[in-house]
Amino acid sequence: MSAAREAQIRVSEIFGPTIQGEGVLIGLPTVFVRTGGCDYRCSWCDSLHAVDSEYRDQWLPMTVDGIWAEVTQLSGGKPLMVSLSGGNPAIQPLGGLIAHGHAHGYKFALETQGSVAKEWFADLDVLVLSPKPPSSGMATDWDAFEHCLRLAAGGPDIALKIVVFDDRDYAYAREASARYPDLPVYLQPGNHTPPPPDDDDARVDIDGIMDRMLWLVDKVTEDRWFEARVLPQLHVLLWGNKRGV
Ligand code: SF4
Repeated sequence: MSAAREAQIRVSEIFGPTIQGEGVLIGLPTVFVRTGGCDYRCSWCDSLHAVDSEYRDQWLPMTVDGIWAEVTQLSGGKPLMVSLSGGNPAIQPLGGLIAHGHAHGYKFALETQGSVAKEWFADLDVLVLSPKPPSSGMATDWDAFEHCLRLAAGGPDIALKIVVFDDRDYAYAREASARYPDLPVYLQPGNHTPPPPDDDDARVDIDGIMDRMLWLVDKVTEDRWFEARVLPQLHVLLWGNKRGV
């Protein structure tokens, strides 16, 4: 067996099929493989169970074969889009999983903040780069971000997705999009209410999200920013911050 097949991937959860709730693939049926661990700690992270080391004992080290057995069981063996998320999935050795899934007709989308670049980005079908705006409390390393773009060049479809809470975030989104005018850009109103990680019935402030959505639509149209696409998190509207849907 190849080293890539034997690599240990830290997995927080595998679930689906459900729909992709945000960004370029919104509405598309998918199985999620959520990896554990992140090099960021955003103030409003809604996936703390895959970020905070307090939950590390829930992140199982799995091989490609172990992950694949779950993905094929969930999908009924019918190829579909597999969404690789986290945490930051880019810090995991996912090249072998992608190669194995492609051999069986599956496709792969990965979302990352763009802080860690991997050679296997070029093998993805969709790469969503989601740099984090000022409200996250994180600073963007644009050199690292551009390294991600270089390694992915010629491979996947690439899109920008930026969460926006306020005017500073909006200005950041405009600057980020201006840096990469060839990339489609998706704006997403922020969700202020990350749940306690073990709360399956976590509620969200839907009114607040929709207020920000309307504000964002007004900003984009008033600014004649016609390249931007504004989308809510569909899964949050449907299920709140519940895990595993
Ligand atoms: S990069 Fe994503 S997963 Fe990591 S802390 Fe920020 S929001 Fe959470």
